[in-house]
Amino acid sequence: MTYCNVILKPKKEESLLRFHPWIFSGAILSIEGEPQEGDVVEVYTADRRFLATGHYQIGSIAIRILSFSQIPVDDAFWVERLLAAYTLRRSTGLAGRAISDTYRLVHGEGDNLPGLVIDIYAGTAVMQAHSVGMHHARHQIADALKTVMGEAIRHIYYKSETTLPYKANTGNEDGYLFGGGSDEDMAMENGLRFYVDWQKGQKTGFFVDQRDNRSLLERYAANRSVLNMFCYTGGFSFYAMRGGATVVHSVDSSSKAIHMTKKNVELNFPGDPRHEAYAEDAFRYLEKTGNRYDLIILDPPAFAKHKNVLRNALQGYRKLNAAALAKIQPGGLLFTFSCSQVVSKEHFRLAVFSAAAQTGRHVRILHQLTQPADHPVNIYHPEGEYLKGLVLYVE
Ligand code: SAH
Repeated sequence: MTYCNVILKPKKEESLLRFHPWIFSGAILSIEGEPQEGDVVEVYTADRRFLATGHYQIGSIAIRILSFSQIPVDDAFWVERLLAAYTLRRSTGLAGRAISDTYRLVHGEGDNLPGLVIDIYAGTAVMQAHSVGMHHARHQIADALKTVMGEAIRHIYYKSETTLPYKANTGNEDGYLFGGGSDEDMAMENGLRFYVDWQKGQKTGFFVDQRDNRSLLERYAANRSVLNMFCYTGGFSFYAMRGGATVVHSVDSSSKAIHMTKKNVELNFPGDPRHEAYAEDAFRYLEKTGNRYDLIILDPPAFAKHKNVLRNALQGYRKLNAAALAKIQPGGLLFTFSCSQVVSKEHFRLAVFSAAAQTGRHVRILHQLTQPADHPVNIYHPEGEYLKGLVLYVE
C-alpha cells in the first residue's frame, strides 16, 4: 500500500525525534498527493528522511503518529498494538480478575494508539474514536480486538458521536460492531457491582479512571458522613458505604445520573437507609444545605477544555473548593479532583490553596492522586497525565 507523503518544514522534526506523537499543521511544508481526512500518511523531513507513519486530520493537530517505522497500518498492525495493550493489563493484574472486570484496555497515546480509547466492562468493549483515522479503522480494530481477546469479549459497542470533530461530518455511527442485543450491562469493580449505560451514559459509560482513588476513599470512610459531589453513577458512594460511612449523600445535576446512582447503590446495598441522592446543581446544594460533612468528594467535569479558558476554570475550582471547605467538619477530609488536561498539577494546587486561604481553614495534603495504571502516560507525551487529585485534612 502506498501512502501520501507529508513533508515537514526544516527543523520541525525535532519533537518527532523525541517521539512526541503529534504534528501540528503549522509544521507542514507540503503534502504530496491528496490525502483524505483520516488517511494514513508518511512523514518526511525537508531533506527527505523518513520520520513516521500516522493518521492525517484537518485541524490544529494534523497528524497523530501510529509508528516511527515505515510499516503498513494493516490487520497485523492493529493486532500487534492491541496485544501489547492487553499484555500490559494482564501482566499487571488489571485484566483477568474475577472481582474487577472493568478496566481501560487502550488509553490513546499511552498505548501508542493516539485517538483511540477502549474500556472493558465484563464481556463488553466500548470503543471511542477521537480522530477520524480511528473512526475509519473501527471495523479493523474490532476484528483485531476479537483476535486478541477471544472469548473474553462478547460485544463491541462503538461510541464516537461526541468525540469526533464535528466538521469531519462522519455522521452518527454509534452502535454495536459485534454482538449486541443482550442485556449484559452490569460490571464489577473491586467486588462492587454497577450498571453501565454505554449507549446513553457519559464517556464510555463509567469513570474507570477513579478506581484506585475510590479504594483509597473506602479506607477513610468508616464512621464518617460523606458527601459525594458530582457523583455520576455513584462510584465513590458505594465504596464509601462499604467502607462504613454513617451517611452518604450523592449529588449530581443530571437526574439520569441520580437514577443510575440509586440503582447502583440498591444493587450493592439493598434497602440501606444510609444513602440519599439529590439531582441538583453542586453550587446550589452547597449553598443551601445546612449539613456539615466529615468527608466531601469533589469530582467535577473538566472546567477547562482549552487553554484560553484556563483563568475562568481556575476561578471555578477555587470557588467550588471554597464552598466545599466551608461545609467540612473540623478534622474532616476533602477529596478534590480536576480532570482538565490543560490545568496543571501546580495550577490546581494553587486554586485549592486559594480556596483554603479564602475560607480561613487550615489544610494539609495527605495524598496526591492521579490516574491508575490502565491509563498509562506516554513519557514522550506528558499531556496524557490529566487526572489530578488532592486529599486534604481540614482543621
Ligand atoms: N465522580 C464520578 C464522575 C463525575 S463526572 C464517578 O466516579 O463516576 C462529572 C459529573 O458532574 C457528571 O455526572 C455531570 O452530570 C455532573 N455535573 C456537571 N455539572 C454539574 C453541576 N453544576 N452540579 C452538579 N453536577 C454536575
